[in-house]
Amino acid sequence: MDKMQTDILIIGGGAAGMSAAMSVAENSNLRVLIVDDNPTLGGQIWRSEMGKIKSPEAKKLIEKIEQNEIEILNKAQVFAQNDEKSLLAETPNGAVQMHFEKLILANGARERFLPFPGWTLPNVFGAGGLQALVKSGLSVENKRIVVSGTGPLLLAVAEYLKSKGAIILLISEQTSRMKLLKFGLGLWRIPKKFFEAIKLQSKLQRTVYLTNSFVIKAEGKENLEAVNIVQNGKNRRVECDFLACGFHLVPNIELALMLGCEIMDGNVLVDKFQETTLENVFCVGEPTGIGGVELSLTEGKIAGLSAIDKKEKAKELFTQKEKLQRFANALNETFSLRDELQSLPNEETIVCRCEDVTFGKIKDFNSFREAKLQARCGMGSCQGKICGSATEFLFDWKNESVRPPIFPVKLENLVD
Ligand SMILES: Cc1cc2nc3c(=O)[nH]c(=O)nc-3n(C[C@H](O)[C@H](O)[C@H](O)COP(=O)(O)OP(=O)(O)OC[C@H]3O[C@@H](n4cnc5c(N)ncnc54)[C@H](O)[C@@H]3O)c2cc1C
Repeated sequence: MDKMQTDILIIGGGAAGMSAAMSVAENSNLRVLIVDDNPTLGGQIWRSEMGKIKSPEAKKLIEKIEQNEIEILNKAQVFAQNDEKSLLAETPNGAVQMHFEKLILANGARERFLPFPGWTLPNVFGAGGLQALVKSGLSVENKRIVVSGTGPLLLAVAEYLKSKGAIILLISEQTSRMKLLKFGLGLWRIPKKFFEAIKLQSKLQRTVYLTNSFVIKAEGKENLEAVNIVQNGKNRRVECDFLACGFHLVPNIELALMLGCEIMDGNVLVDKFQETTLENVFCVGEPTGIGGVELSLTEGKIAGLSAIDKKEKAKELFTQKEKLQRFANALNETFSLRDELQSLPNEETIVCRCEDVTFGKIKDFNSFREAKLQARCGMGSCQGKICGSATEFLFDWKNESVRPPIFPVKLENLVD
């Protein structure tokens, strides 16, 4: 097995991880290694399009990283801990053992999916998932698409798909107009966000945007043919080719859990310096709570400085972080899920799609563990990453036990 040695190991090459790496490189001579499972740096928001990064901000950051000789290991997924100071990642060339002095977790978030009748039909996608597929070559030209769920990601995805020739039939947002209005009015405090919102709105000017609205059913014989949408108690049926559907984001906490970091309210618990409850293990960006790209960048800077003991310099960023945290709190409050979404699945609706476990089979259990042991819910290849957050919303079950490997791994990489 290949071995790598570094001073600061960063898991995740998105905004938070890259910002942490630069913060270390600009303020010390320590070795930094970024490990990421994608083929290029950028994370979710700056995901490359056919290998090319489009965002000028991301390009600048990546250029700086290259100039500072920060080591990068792409296409490498961290799946287990080797010992207190080393982790294991799977790469196309086999497993790699990465030894470090300090660790920064910057491994982002994923979309939340909620089950409703028909959600597993072909051509029903996660909103961010469809965007990622288009970035890697899927054509959506002239496809009729409904975008549904909740969160600012819906707008970003709709705008992106439209720019690629898709016909966006409508965006259906579950939150209320009042909540959105309140959130919009608060945006002036963060001018960058304010102008971004205006730009997005002007690009989506003629697109129907429904609030208080959600998909209750997806229909089709073999593939998706139509969705049923409800708004203020009124139903409508919309024929479409694709449904892009996501219910905001869920922090990726499995890696932190596996290491033994404390979790609070579904987020990795960190102090003001981004240090977790484990000494010399820091966490930044979405795993500490969904907050958007600016907060990820700021937390990255703080963690980088803290990891090299430049705590006074890190403190200078606290006010900025607090301001962004207030924005994040407002974001999460605005897009919190309405209770009606809990009653979308019927007896036959699949909840755990890896193991084909239906709502009817698990609804009478008392915990995720019970559903796992008795009905195999969460026992498939995603290890409960999808149904875990769905059942947390549906039944208030916690799924906070992880077992390595945290991702499916080739047997040969486990036994080496
Ligand atoms: C699917 C999706 C699409 C999004 N699209 C947009 C968008 O279009 N516009 C927008 O404003 N915001 C978008 N966001 C939100 C955006 O991700 C955040 O606002 C912010 O950029 C998060 O930065 P981050 O560095 O914390 O995380 P991320 O950008 O998610 O970076 C984390 C990185 O860690 C990698 N990683 C995770 N686990 C491992 C592991 N075990 N081993 C190795 N690597 C690992 C991930 O692949 C990823 O590259 C999206 C989020 C998601 C989940």
